[in-house]
Amino acid sequence: MTDKQPYLLLAPGPVNLHPKVRETLSDPMTHHRTPLFDKILVRTLERLPPIFHTTQRVYLLSCTGSGGMEALMVNTCNPGDEVVVINSGKFGERWVEMGRAFQLKVHELKIPWGEACSVDQLRPLLEKHSIRAVFCQATETSTAVKHPIESLGTFLKPYSDTLFLVDGITAVGAYPILMDEWGIDGLVAGSQKAFMLPTGMSFVSFSQKAWQRIPKVTMPRFYYDIREEDRANKKGETWFSSNVSLIKALNVVLTLIEEKGLEHHYQEIQKRARFARFCLQHFGLKLFPQSPSESVTAFCLPTGIDSQAVRSTLEKDFNITIMGGQDQLKGKILRIGHMGYIEIADQIRLMTSLQSVFLQHQVPFIPLSENEMLQWFKS
Ligand SMILES: *Cc1c(COP(=O)(O)O)cnc(C)c1O
Repeated sequence: MTDKQPYLLLAPGPVNLHPKVRETLSDPMTHHRTPLFDKILVRTLERLPPIFHTTQRVYLLSCTGSGGMEALMVNTCNPGDEVVVINSGKFGERWVEMGRAFQLKVHELKIPWGEACSVDQLRPLLEKHSIRAVFCQATETSTAVKHPIESLGTFLKPYSDTLFLVDGITAVGAYPILMDEWGIDGLVAGSQKAFMLPTGMSFVSFSQKAWQRIPKVTMPRFYYDIREEDRANKKGETWFSSNVSLIKALNVVLTLIEEKGLEHHYQEIQKRARFARFCLQHFGLKLFPQSPSESVTAFCLPTGIDSQAVRSTLEKDFNITIMGGQDQLKGKILRIGHMGYIEIADQIRLMTSLQSVFLQHQVPFIPLSENEMLQWFKS
């Protein structure tokens, strides 16, 4: 084998970083109470709401996505509240575990892995119980399923005592999630997913309907008390030390998105998903989810072939990381992320390398040449 190609991260988070983000991350450290950083913080806070499609403020938290999920829960629920969790995979399970840890009475709406939740499945629970909140993922990253957030939100809108809390960690910034229009009351995004940054921050926002409840909630909360963050932000500060490096990098990402236009940014990600699906279907492989998301593609390998082994060979021989399946899907599926800094050449490199790995692992497939792939991008 010739010299290895550069490392390429095509997981559904963390993701490949833009060169400008990498450059910014190597800047010398500055203090967060300086005029220079103050300006960056204010600019960043101003530019986040359009990505959430909201007129509400968006808050920066120095924690991974799960911390942002917790912020949604502890600011809106009382211990003992009856809530519904739409559980369709690993991250749905996280809502369930978190809800139990915070002593919520969790009604689990279990959806088979690979399927999306419908309004008809949710309705009976709302009719039977007095539900204070419904928790869902926009994209359930473990199965690559995209849930119909717009129709779920529209259905829940008339329930004046029920909040709709959405984990948009692999959705917000990757495809349109219209927080205000769809009636989402709490929305969380993550730095290492659709925001194309290293791991370590999450971003949350609350609707007016949620804000009416936030001051009255009896749940113990301290670090994630969003009222304090709100007060600090209104003075142009963060409550605790600002995550200077990641906020500077976020500012770069927001500029890159703004220069391209948000719509165009969404289209690029969607095109990566379409390209992956074109190739996989040409190979003769089946997509795993019923309703696939733009941010990640999951596909099945024929029975008898261990997807973990395929994934390892791709990493070892071709220096490309994609993900396998978790739990019941371990060894059965592979997942390709479409978020982050990904060029056309990277996408072609993945599909070409995958074909070599398929040959090695005796995965039957119909080959696709680089030329045919280039043609796809041109048409
Ligand atoms: C990655 C991810 C999270 C959060 O994971 P962290 O490791 O805490 O960042 C939550 N939900 C979904 C859907 C995710 O993809």
